[in-house]
Amino acid sequence: MTEPKQTEKSKDTCCEHTHASAEQKEASGADGRPAPFLVAEHPALDALNSLCAPWGNDIEWWDTGQSLMDWMLAADLIDQAVVDRLHERCSAQALDSVADQARELREHFRELIHRYGGAPLTPDALADLAQIREQLLKDRQYMDVVETENGEGIELRWQRDWEKPEQLLAPLVEKMAEILCSPQLVNVKNCEWPPCTLWFLDTTKNKKRRWCTMQVCGNRAKAAAHRAKKKRG
Ligand SMILES: [Zn+2]
Repeated sequence: MTEPKQTEKSKDTCCEHTHASAEQKEASGADGRPAPFLVAEHPALDALNSLCAPWGNDIEWWDTGQSLMDWMLAADLIDQAVVDRLHERCSAQALDSVADQARELREHFRELIHRYGGAPLTPDALADLAQIREQLLKDRQYMDVVETENGEGIELRWQRDWEKPEQLLAPLVEKMAEILCSPQLVNVKNCEWPPCTLWFLDTTKNKKRRWCTMQVCGNRAKAAAHRAKKKRG
């Protein structure tokens, strides 16, 4: 299992980093960590990027139960009512232990993406999905008739009861299984800037997305190409 990494301030030494770092600093919360990177076009890949190093040092967004819930709120995987309910029912310790499990699940999923990203899965892969399937089996959902989000109507919706903190893993594993089973798995890519560890789903029409974001790595690559060109004369 991967040990939680300490949050460190981004390095801000190279000229091409300045723009992105200024933006991220603006978005930093009280803990000094930037707002979550939700640039992957799929929540399971955004989950991989909850540990990343766009500036060389690891940034971990899932170090405690509270920070895991904050990240899931930002990623729209749970709502505030879920956070309130879990705070009512569970100790901070129990929630922290779920963050430990979430990090372990994320790193297992990262291995699967490294191994299988780029081609659709065949039944041969099922044995390697045992841990994901085990987590899926633990999920308990039921259907209920509830008010629509705009409050103007009613709809039939899948619900979870949120009795136990471990249920926080359910929406994460559901999204991980969704992308593993999707033909879109062929379009899962790693940012091309060598030290960057961000993952994304290439949803562009011509499938030519190369960077996590243009603001971070796209601009770095452009600056590097510019310097190389200047050097060549
Ligand atoms: Zn990148």
